[in-house]
Amino acid sequence: MPARDLTRQYRKGYHDQNGTRNALVLTSRGCPFRCNFCACWKLLGGKYLVRSPESVVQEMTALPEDIEQIFFADDNTLHNVQHAWRLARLIRESGIRLKFSMFARADTVVKHPDLIRYLKECGLSTVFPVDLQGFRLETQKPEAKQRVAPRPVTPCKAGPPPSLSLAASLQVQTDL
Ligand code: SF4
Repeated sequence: MPARDLTRQYRKGYHDQNGTRNALVLTSRGCPFRCNFCACWKLLGGKYLVRSPESVVQEMTALPEDIEQIFFADDNTLHNVQHAWRLARLIRESGIRLKFSMFARADTVVKHPDLIRYLKECGLSTVFPVDLQGFRLETQKPEAKQRVAPRPVTPCKAGPPPSLSLAASLQVQTDL
């Protein structure tokens, strides 16, 4: 577990662009996909390691009182959907009231609206889609498509269903 007591004296000056004090928590490391515009999977050689949801919730429960929000600093938080469900249920059972955000593949979000809806009920505020290259490539000139990795393994070509906006606030950064 991170020794957050060591950073107590510095935390006052650290916040995100909205002035919110975040805690970075890991639920997993790496990514098993091979999108060729992305460096994340190379760092762990394509492995995807998950941390036990019990341990994640234990860390979340022990966060200092001055923490206002959690950012799951994984490469791809929702890759293991079963794991994500277990984590969500434990967060709910724990009574943690903090909002949280995460990176996830857009196609996972689209395929699992029930999970996203449930996560929202547990505190999910924002999903940062990590693989929107597929969207961007659709709009680029042929020469640009060649320059930036034309073959992500599973390019997400479908937008999130309109109903998803009811389930989670989906933040799309179009310059990915
Ligand atoms: S873009 Fe996302 S899904 Fe693709 S390799 Fe990187 S982290 Fe994995």
